[in-house]
Amino acid sequence: MAEVNRVVVVTGASHGIGSAIALRFGAPGTGLVLTYRQRRAGAEAVAAQLRDAGAEPLVLAVDVRSRADVERMVEATLARFGRIDVLVNNAGIYPRAPLLELSEALWDEVLGTNLKGSFLCAQAVARAMIAGGVRGKIVNISSIEGVLTATGMLAYDVSKAGVLMLTRNLALELGPYGINVNCVAPGLIDAPDLSRNAPVLHQTYLQQAVFGLGSGADVADACLFLASDAARWITGQTLFVDGGMLVAPYYGSPEPPRRSG
Ligand code: NDP
Repeated sequence: MAEVNRVVVVTGASHGIGSAIALRFGAPGTGLVLTYRQRRAGAEAVAAQLRDAGAEPLVLAVDVRSRADVERMVEATLARFGRIDVLVNNAGIYPRAPLLELSEALWDEVLGTNLKGSFLCAQAVARAMIAGGVRGKIVNISSIEGVLTATGMLAYDVSKAGVLMLTRNLALELGPYGINVNCVAPGLIDAPDLSRNAPVLHQTYLQQAVFGLGSGADVADACLFLASDAARWITGQTLFVDGGMLVAPYYGSPEPPRRSG
């Protein structure tokens, strides 16, 4: 078994925010479990960077909607590292479908991935933490859409609102075991194809959020804090990491306040 001083599981670490989170946690001596659903090459590329940084990556294919997969994830982690200290529930999907076109199958897929997946992972990991006497940390990834509506995003917004309450209930029930559960709710994160794929969203965010678009690293830093001992007296909370989108004036403003420089 590899000798590591902390073991961190990041779901959906093959791409986007999840890979930024995994890399941010990748200090020497950290066991990093990177899960992916389809993009094995993406997860392997992150693992290679982590290895170079002195961390010990373990790459696993996990569909978070499947209890069997999630239990295998926990078993494989314990077999390799012997413990789990941190879970970041990041895996998520955000397909757009207006209410009148939203199929039952898509509703189930979105809720199954974003909400049920976070529940299944938290439950299985919490059991392992408790059995191992680990006073661990769980960080759930929601979204500003957990509190804001967006056209065509009913299923997603409901799933992310659910993650806010999941966080509070997990914090309540896992507190007696010394496990902190918190949530990071990101705003819009920049991506290479964002301005082409979602031009209106991209432009609106740039115009309204005080600090404009964010990066995966902005989200990762918040996760790192909530998973650290510095956050030992914080539980059940949601940290909105949104560049100030939620303080955008309700009626808009001809010249929104902008960061200077
Ligand atoms: P990406 O699409 O870039 O990556 C999503 C990750 O989740 C991938 O690793 C993917 O695996 C994995 N995943 C998807 N479905 C499943 C599943 N059923 N089981 C296991 N893993 C799965 O997403 P982002 O980085 O943009 O988003 C990450 C999280 O951040 C999500 O929860 C999202 O809702 C949230 N968020 C994102 C924002 C943004 O602006 N991007 C804003 C606010 C919140 P694979 O690719 O291997 O199939």
